[in-house]
Amino acid sequence: VRGNKTEATKAIVWSIAGSDSGGGAGIQADLLTMRAFGVHGCSLITAITAQSSVAVARVELVSEQMLAAQWQTLLADLPPVAIKIGLVASRAQQQQLTTLLATLPTTIPVIIDPVLIASCGDTLTLDSGLDALPELPELYRFASLLTPNLPELAALTGLAVTTPEQIITATECLLKKGVRAVLVKGGHASGCKQLALDYLASTRQQYWLASPRIDTEHNHGTGCSLASAIASGLALGYPLDDAVVLAKAYLNRGLSAAYATGQGAGTLSHLP
Ligand code: PLP
Repeated sequence: VRGNKTEATKAIVWSIAGSDSGGGAGIQADLLTMRAFGVHGCSLITAITAQSSVAVARVELVSEQMLAAQWQTLLADLPPVAIKIGLVASRAQQQQLTTLLATLPTTIPVIIDPVLIASCGDTLTLDSGLDALPELPELYRFASLLTPNLPELAALTGLAVTTPEQIITATECLLKKGVRAVLVKGGHASGCKQLALDYLASTRQQYWLASPRIDTEHNHGTGCSLASAIASGLALGYPLDDAVVLAKAYLNRGLSAAYATGQGAGTLSHLP
């Protein structure tokens, strides 16, 4: 209520992520997803990429001061109901976000997509050491849910993740290191041609999620969109399991209508 007038409002979700100039992933995908879910998306940009569908030509980090300014400005007026974190492009930025997240109430869900490389295979992080993480970044302990794909799960744990048993073992390793819940995205698996198998695990429960595998090479932005869709579902009040299922349904619908953009992989469609 503002004055004596009741005004319509929307749940606010923050996307802390990089800009993809190609429009398929990063902040651009996050905001389209949040709009589709009917929440209000705010963006805290961590890095700007000069990127097409075939290559990442340049990555420039936003300064520490600018990231802090985005955070403080939004917090004063547009505080989040849920947060999605994508590209965090340096160790210093990881540390800064860890410090900032520690100041928020723990009731705000934080979905972290541990982005390391772009879909075209180019690296997105500045510290090449981020690619082979010796220990789990402190930041990931603030995740209500971490959403690695198979290459990211392998990089985060140093383990092979080819078989279902190996995926379970690697996920347990992340849970033991203090991550509260993990959703392993099976999109990169080559074993099963008919199904896309994801694995959702917390200390409370573990199960596989199966959905028909949608045969498209236009999958740029799927990781970003999935994490944003989960954050949006949580902001709308769904429990985590339901938010994950809703997000998967959203992704599958978008992949069924995916389209080519440039010479490389196109992107999923964000339907209103
Ligand atoms: N964030 C940014 C800024 C990117 O440019 C990319 C990929 O190019 C990603 C995240 C990860 O994208 P995806 O959702 O395809 O994993």
